[in-house]
Amino acid sequence: MAIHRGSDCRICRRENMKLFLKGDRCYSDKCAFDRRSYPPGEHGERRGRKSSDYGIQLREKQKIKRIYGLSEKQFHLFFERAERQKGITGTNLLIALERRLDNVVYRLGFANSRSQARQLVQHRHFLVNGRRVNIPSFQVNVGDTVEVREGSRNVPVIQEALDAVVRRGVPQWLDLEKDRLRGVVKSLPVREDLTMPMQEQLVVELYSK
Ligand code: SF4
Repeated sequence: MAIHRGSDCRICRRENMKLFLKGDRCYSDKCAFDRRSYPPGEHGERRGRKSSDYGIQLREKQKIKRIYGLSEKQFHLFFERAERQKGITGTNLLIALERRLDNVVYRLGFANSRSQARQLVQHRHFLVNGRRVNIPSFQVNVGDTVEVREGSRNVPVIQEALDAVVRRGVPQWLDLEKDRLRGVVKSLPVREDLTMPMQEQLVVELYSK
């Protein structure tokens, strides 16, 4: 997929906030944003130009897209689907992103980052309701179970991620049964469950132009 291939830490510095793209490193003193919280590039430290409305909307869209690790095309498809649903388009968009299987795998603590979760899903390490699913964009529903399949229970990155999940916690709409390497979708996420600062209305304004 046509997603960002450069340094993840540059993205955080570009978006001026920690996006937690690199698992454990993000919580350590190696975090590049904590050490250099100014935009990347030769003149990054000196940049202070005021952005236009368009620039602000564009940055917000880029930020949300990068948090979930999607290409422009994939992100726009999610937006179009959100627009067709009843309710508030921006909220619909975030909820649909949150319901992606790769995000759920990350949120349950089976992976240290969404990009790692995407890889694990694509490599068929997970079952949804007992069936193997290798589609990262698969949308989970209430009552769905997501579990590490029998043959993947000793995969080191999954074990390591589970050890580290305590630090960030599991959201209240999911239930982790750590011993069984299994999670249950207790309810659909609501806007308040998403605590990272995201101004989805700016994305709606951008795409409405
Ligand atoms: Fe962002 Fe820091 Fe994580 Fe790098 S280590 S991805 S700068 S939060």
